[in-house]
Amino acid sequence: MMRRKPAAPSKVKTKAGAALVAPLTAPAVPKTPEPVDAATLREIFARLSAANPAPRSDLQYVNPYTLLVAVVLSAQATDKGVNLATRDLFAKADHPAAMLALGEEAVRQHIRTIGLFNTKAKNVIALSQILVERHGGEVPRRREELEVLPGVGRKTASVVLNVAFGEPTIAVDTHIFRVSNRIPLAPGPTTDKVQEGLEAIVPEPYRHNAHHWLILHGRYVCKARKPECWRCVIADLCRYPDKTPAPV
Ligand code: SF4
Repeated sequence: MMRRKPAAPSKVKTKAGAALVAPLTAPAVPKTPEPVDAATLREIFARLSAANPAPRSDLQYVNPYTLLVAVVLSAQATDKGVNLATRDLFAKADHPAAMLALGEEAVRQHIRTIGLFNTKAKNVIALSQILVERHGGEVPRRREELEVLPGVGRKTASVVLNVAFGEPTIAVDTHIFRVSNRIPLAPGPTTDKVQEGLEAIVPEPYRHNAHHWLILHGRYVCKARKPECWRCVIADLCRYPDKTPAPV
């Protein structure tokens, strides 16, 4: 069987007639758009705010403690799944001492429909123990004290600080990470970088609710596989180059 020779680099000739080998060039990579400017950023939040003036978390909770537990349980699980599991759990235990009295095995049974339920049941009991022993059964309001609780990382602490205590934190989950990089608002390679970027640029009147608006926008409109750009209220401001056309 004859083998084809690989294509040789193309030759060009100089005015003097000497042959030069033209360099091989890499295929063109689509250029990442520049982040939106400050005026556009403000307009984006003005529109998200107008569309949903009082955004709320999809997670159900009745106090800072149940919010904390719900967010811990929501890692790698849907809010809907968490709500189904916590409805009965929180009816029996809506504060740390009651959760300890319920015990790890009962917690495990309540949350067994959620991913990683064994680890999460252990974490819920362990964090409840710490809240009782060190914080008088209350959820602390300081990030450093939240982030040392079992199962609580930077994102969970940011959600609790924002939702329970009104801090203008922006907890970056998979939805906010995607939305921020697509539009782009504050693009970055990691959730921490995006969080730092967003917290630095989101205008003051929108800081407290930015977290909710961006999560809900990512979850229901700017979806991962196929963003629904045709019904997006900020489509004319977004610089994402591969917008989805309206369905026929
Ligand atoms: S236009 Fe499309 S890509 Fe841009 S924010 Fe809206 S849904 Fe997302």
